[in-house]
Amino acid sequence: MKKRILLLTAWLMILFPATTLAQKKIPILVYHSIAEFKGTGQKELYVTPENFQKQMEYLKANSFTPLTFERWEEAGRIAKPIFITIDDGYKNNLSVATIFSKISGATFQPAATLFIISDFVGNRNRLSEKDLRQLAASGMFSVQSHTATHPDLTKIANYEYELWESKRKIERITGKPVIAISYPYGNANRKVINETKKYYQFGLTTTPGPFVKRNKPNENYELPRTYVKYSTTLEEFARIAAGE
Ligand SMILES: [Zn+2]
Repeated sequence: MKKRILLLTAWLMILFPATTLAQKKIPILVYHSIAEFKGTGQKELYVTPENFQKQMEYLKANSFTPLTFERWEEAGRIAKPIFITIDDGYKNNLSVATIFSKISGATFQPAATLFIISDFVGNRNRLSEKDLRQLAASGMFSVQSHTATHPDLTKIANYEYELWESKRKIERITGKPVIAISYPYGNANRKVINETKKYYQFGLTTTPGPFVKRNKPNENYELPRTYVKYSTTLEEFARIAAGE
């Protein structure tokens, strides 16, 4: 009986691949600072290097495959895909490279997407051009856009500067294509999405929850992301990674 069900399932997967894909949950995580919290800024936007390392070790031990958006199409075929994204381009993101190098191995290749505010590159507490070039060249990081000046995109008029200039500047720094943007404050509307579509293949919000493909026209421009916070426990992290 069990064998029959398995056979039937296999047939259904061959006949209706879109249907099986439609149920797949793809978690996209969002981080900001990977550092000890020392009293400045919002505590929940920090994750300590110790916790971040434990979370990455969890992904390694549980056979997850970290992906960046260049490999988006593979997510539907991979057993346990996960996207790690880090916003705002803080200098402390360099600790991620250290942790990635430590846990990288034959069975686990860590990867993350850094969403950079292009006009802030080289500022105090932010990654420099040299940092970004090295991170991109390491093969463990995809450097993408978080606009030029971090405005609420639903409240501005000069989209060309925020969307196109930031993309151009980051591409000049890393020598690699910029195909994704994370909207500051997670805010986007129809106008923002239409402008984003001119330059990017992906737009990321901060609406929580895993991505589930439904073949809606703008779904790649309304990608959800779930915060990993200072207070997130490893048990909670496991549930987020499972797409719950
Ligand atoms: Zn931001």
